[in-house]
Amino acid sequence: MRWQGQQVGATDVDALPGLESLDGLVRSVTTPEFAGITFHEVLAKSALNHVPGASAMPFDWTINPYRGCSHACAYCFARKTHEYLELDAGADFDSQIVVKTNVAEVTRRELARPTWLRETVALGTNTDPYQRAEGRYRLMPGIIDALAESGTPFSVLTKGTLLRRDLPQLADAAASVRVSIAMSIAVFDDDLQKLVEPGTPSAAARLATVRAATDAGFRVTVFLMPILPHLTDSPAALDHALAQIAAAGATRVVFGALHLRPGAKQWFWQWLERERPDLLPVYRGLYPGVSVSAPVGYRKLLTARVRPLLHRHRLAGGAEEEVEMRVPRPGPVRATGARMPAMAGAATLF
Ligand code: SF4
Repeated sequence: MRWQGQQVGATDVDALPGLESLDGLVRSVTTPEFAGITFHEVLAKSALNHVPGASAMPFDWTINPYRGCSHACAYCFARKTHEYLELDAGADFDSQIVVKTNVAEVTRRELARPTWLRETVALGTNTDPYQRAEGRYRLMPGIIDALAESGTPFSVLTKGTLLRRDLPQLADAAASVRVSIAMSIAVFDDDLQKLVEPGTPSAAARLATVRAATDAGFRVTVFLMPILPHLTDSPAALDHALAQIAAAGATRVVFGALHLRPGAKQWFWQWLERERPDLLPVYRGLYPGVSVSAPVGYRKLLTARVRPLLHRHRLAGGAEEEVEMRVPRPGPVRATGARMPAMAGAATLF
């Protein structure tokens, strides 16, 4: 891989942001508690990534402490980014995790710049900040402190139950900056969840985390996405999901159909061939060639199906293309998760 064997201080102009200049030792670590996973520890040069103004993203800045994600969702939109590291978008994305061990320190330094305008920073936009690696590296507490102390509002989006560990700290941060929390839960059938998102906590565990965040004072958004055609989109399945989301205390739901970007699409086809070959022709029909999104007709059908269910379960929110896309400007409002940025197309977020 491109950065393996780098010399201290070497520069790699083709590397991803944060990896261009390895100003410190890079080592690869395997440990029995994380069988099958290799952590590649790097010293990042930068932490804050600017999202270009023309982008469809609902935020201006992101921080990604990890590259790759052991949650291993078969549909993951971020898979292709691993290819920039000369790792593959399939198994390597799930098991070769790049860890920016100094990300909190770099974040703090960048936030201290006089030019920093305290725009909202989104965590969880590319890979999951509360994936299993976070249990070992504990990078998020330092990032949260740095953001709160600098007066920077931020949002956290995750599938990880490790979020629970940091809830007291997040609640403290929310006393001074706007903090939005969202949990991604797409699959409520345990057998299917283990097949399609094999590294994630169960839906029940994630719902318990939603409850804990609610009890800590947050208004939590749940991202019910991606909804998988012919797998999780029946009226009964959606009703079951929304009932559980409401019971967990979430106030808002953003839903959307599966997107299949290049990289993710090939990997998802392989998953279908292995687990549900009967559905392969159907999916090839819905996502022909290079198309990323499900057809408009399907998405309209989904909206017509979900909207009355949201109403029935007294949940705010809507389809990803309908909901508020911008996070409000900073303010000393505690935990107003109701305006969490929508996932600008599940193509880019969970
Ligand atoms: S979709 Fe999110 S949680 Fe799943 S593998 Fe990708 S980054 Fe991780």
